[in-house]
Amino acid sequence: MNDILPPDSARWEWLEDKVRGLMQRYAYRNIRTPIVEPTPLFVRGLGEVTDIVEKEMYSFEDRLNGEQLTLRPEATAGVVRAVVESNLLYDGGKRLYYMGPMFRHERPQRGRYRQFHQIGAEALGFHGAEVDAELILLADALWKELGLQNVRLELNSLGQPEERRAHRAALIAYFEQNLELLDEEAKRRLHSNPLRILDTKNPAMQALVQLAPRLLDFLGEASRTHLDTVTSILDANGVAWSINPRLVRGMDYYNLTVFEFITDQLGSQGTICGGGRYDYLIEQIGGKAAPAVGWALGVERVLELVKEAGLATVTPVPDAYAVVPDAATLPLVSSVVQALRGAGVSVQMHSPSGAAGEGMGSMKSQFKKADASGARFALIFGADELAQGQVTVKSLRDGSGAQTTQSLSAAAQWATLLQSTD
Ligand code: ATP
Ligand code: MG
Repeated sequence: MNDILPPDSARWEWLEDKVRGLMQRYAYRNIRTPIVEPTPLFVRGLGEVTDIVEKEMYSFEDRLNGEQLTLRPEATAGVVRAVVESNLLYDGGKRLYYMGPMFRHERPQRGRYRQFHQIGAEALGFHGAEVDAELILLADALWKELGLQNVRLELNSLGQPEERRAHRAALIAYFEQNLELLDEEAKRRLHSNPLRILDTKNPAMQALVQLAPRLLDFLGEASRTHLDTVTSILDANGVAWSINPRLVRGMDYYNLTVFEFITDQLGSQGTICGGGRYDYLIEQIGGKAAPAVGWALGVERVLELVKEAGLATVTPVPDAYAVVPDAATLPLVSSVVQALRGAGVSVQMHSPSGAAGEGMGSMKSQFKKADASGARFALIFGADELAQGQVTVKSLRDGSGAQTTQSLSAAAQWATLLQSTD
């Protein structure tokens, strides 16, 4: 679990701002659900025989009532629970997005943490393949907005339950013929959840999995059409895709479309975003049956990619730094600074660091701090200037050191001078 500290946290805010703007343009609305949910929500929702439920959940007992609780390992189940509880679909489908921390007890490594963060988008109540495509286009637009290249899209269809049943039988037969090649986990899952074996991360089993019967070959007309509609919309929008018949995703709730966005630039943790359709989850969680589709991206991985690609993100700096030689003037100075802030200027106030009793510090040390702050201007509240109702505004960035004198009482009028436009 990581602390996210400045200046790195600026990159997080930069991403979050981009996401908010984009979600607004696609008409997705923000939803915030609790970090803690009843354990059965995830066990039922994600599936008992999944990596997350079998070994990755942070679960504990509520000391007061003995209820089993879990720190959310993902947010879709919680979003669905909230939507059902609040009957949010009463007047039609809803497009939602969230951002926040998730918790999985995994072996920590680059791009894999125990508290990590996801941003996700969910469209609930819509059955059309155009909504699957819309979500994919939304994610693709985000990569473009962030300046990311070399992200590829893999697609698959998990079909419908009856198609899955036929495939499941073929899969079990295939694995039974190759029993000696299965690891312990795969043997255990062979009859409870054979599809999960396809999601194995064990390198020794990749060849076996490659040759396994493909669910794609078991799809009926309607499922194929659904996939074709998604891909033709992607084609019409110039979004490249490829079919990966082994793509099954880590949770049991998916059907029809599943997809992942993958990069080769992050080593083995290359999946930055994954999602798909989950038409049966709402009913399973106790709501009236309704279709849904969504995705989640891993914030740490996306930001690592941003960093890796050397993309510059905005580091916030104040517009101005207030240099205050004499502590006795602080009440007056603070009222001017407040007026500037009220007019939209970002002002960092000088305050001496460390132990008390040193005064405000020399002009030299205050200018050093002003420089280090990155501010474009220093506001020099010298005693002489203040006595005349004025402040000196000194340029710090353009090398000119140009100074002007401004009236204290008219701060709101010259505030725009200070606001950086670049
Ligand atoms: P993986 O196959 O890498 O374990 P997953 O299939 O378990 O991923 P999802 O549950 O689909 O992942 O979550 C969506 C995204 O969240 C992933 O594509 C990844 O970017 C990110 N993610 C998942 N688990 C972690 C983690 N432990 N640390 C950091 N990011 C994660
Ligand atoms: Mg995982």
